[in-house]
Amino acid sequence: MRFARLRLNGFKSFVDPTDLVIADGLTGVVGPNGCGKSNLLEALRWVMGENRPTAMRGGGMEDVIFAGAATRSARNFAEVTLGMDNSERLAPAAFNGEESLDIIRRVTRDVGSAYKVNGKDVRARDVQMLFADASTGAHSPALVRQGQISELINAKPQKRRRVLEEAAGISGLYQRRHEAELK
Ligand code: ATP
Ligand code: MG
Repeated sequence: MRFARLRLNGFKSFVDPTDLVIADGLTGVVGPNGCGKSNLLEALRWVMGENRPTAMRGGGMEDVIFAGAATRSARNFAEVTLGMDNSERLAPAAFNGEESLDIIRRVTRDVGSAYKVNGKDVRARDVQMLFADASTGAHSPALVRQGQISELINAKPQKRRRVLEEAAGISGLYQRRHEAELK
């Protein structure tokens, strides 16, 4: 699967609907401090099912909703759409009949999060599983947060080892062994 498009609507500083095309190869995002570069990466992680507040630089789940500015009032929901190209048919079985996948996550104040894949309601777990083995998921070591490199350098060896195991793609095996031992 390949990232193809990203649409943000009311997500953090992206109050108006914003569409991005993610082309093949390397994509660079440049801009002045505070223009929303890190917010873009957070949107990508969020739509893939990220639920850890620490990864989202905010306290509550509703902190991703545009909170208002001097000339704009706050929004009631935030929505991110991720368009995936599945022309190589590498998506998990449940989704593999589709040429492309549109994953939508929306959070509404006092309601919470809802997910859709190609228009059908799905659970957070379904979206997380969609990316689980694709090395693209919300927890993927391919997505490096600002400050994460220095965190890694200063981390204890045990923590550094966990990150390296994740990068090598073997952390899933421990999880499965643990589940097998419980059975
Ligand atoms: P830097 O170059 O300093 O890393 P950046 O381009 O990564 O900057 P971001 O951290 O993505 O910038 O964007 C920060 C901006 O997003 C701030 O101006 C902040 O006020 C705004 N912002 C974050 N959350 C919200 C929200 N919920 N509602 C409105 N604006 C928000
Ligand atoms: Mg930043």
